[in-house]
Amino acid sequence: MKILQDLSLEELTNLVQQLGEKKFRAKQIYENLYLGKTLSEMTNVPKTLKESLKKDFIDEPIKIIETLKDDEGTQKFLYALHDGNIIEGVLMKYKYGNTLCVSTQVGCRMGCKFCASSLNGLVRNLTAGEILGQVLCVNKLLGGTAKKREITNLVLMGSGEPLDNFLNITKFLKLVTSEDGINFSARNISLSTCGIVPNIKKLSKLGLPIILTISLHAPNDEIRKKTMPIANKYSIKQIIDASKTYFNATGRRVIFEYALIDGVNNTEKCAEELASVVRGFPTHVNLIPLNEVKERGLKTVTRKNAEKFCEHLKRLGVSASIRRTIGENIEGACGQLRNKVLSNQNKA
Ligand code: SAH
Repeated sequence: MKILQDLSLEELTNLVQQLGEKKFRAKQIYENLYLGKTLSEMTNVPKTLKESLKKDFIDEPIKIIETLKDDEGTQKFLYALHDGNIIEGVLMKYKYGNTLCVSTQVGCRMGCKFCASSLNGLVRNLTAGEILGQVLCVNKLLGGTAKKREITNLVLMGSGEPLDNFLNITKFLKLVTSEDGINFSARNISLSTCGIVPNIKKLSKLGLPIILTISLHAPNDEIRKKTMPIANKYSIKQIIDASKTYFNATGRRVIFEYALIDGVNNTEKCAEELASVVRGFPTHVNLIPLNEVKERGLKTVTRKNAEKFCEHLKRLGVSASIRRTIGENIEGACGQLRNKVLSNQNKA
């Protein structure tokens, strides 16, 4: 079975015409899809056409099954996929709008030591339509439409490693920025990667001005190898070279994520080393006090330590800030909520 949300308007038009229907039907279905409707819910589409599509396409590939809210307006969603897999996402409210964090894989195979997403390894890649489906579900929930979006920014920072699912991500970016659909500006989309160097270079070639965010989390390869297995494959130097290529291709400064972990990467010397790594081209360092994941046993830092680290970076000429830790009390860190559900399922 296939997923309609994977199709561009052109692909859907070809399909509808192959089924002997008029071209405008494709546009009708497409508009409905981008309102977050299932085939069954499309009242203006002939029943015969819906029935022939249902033979090959899943009617509801993704749906929200649970919503958790905290006091600041952050919402966490659990989505069920058609094959029974579960993924999650977070909606954050900022002064300038609503940012939705989407997942790109079920699980993850990168094995970062602090992250909950890879506790159970990679289950499977999400298709472009399943990633888009998260956006459409939440936009619908917020009362938005394709023309009047309720989501302003997208971050590919949920479960999964986007650059380990390159083809689907590329297709997703095309669909989500298309004027035929929900028409996001690429400038309002961020992609976060643990640093798969060849695919950062490939991403540069797409010519899309999306924001590249690199999960660095260490000032040198030795420390990085302790928490991120990908560091055995690509060095920080290779990552910085690829980031410069990205900046030169897109004109967008590169953001480095740095989760502060007590006793691992939070000393003054680490700040100095980090400064020498990220200086020299337009960058920003986002410091995140580690969101403790029970199963991982790593410890977070005090607010004071985070502030000191940040000030030190700034003194050394680095643009840096401490990211608001969002949704901690609703299991906001990647993969935490899904894992809670999975372990409850195992206990049941
Ligand atoms: N695989 C991608 C995107 C997913 S994670 C990546 O590695 O960038 C989004 C961000 O959250 C990454 O920077 C990741 O390293 C970070 N992260 C994961 N678990 C965390 C935790 N427990 N505390 C703080 N940051 C975490």
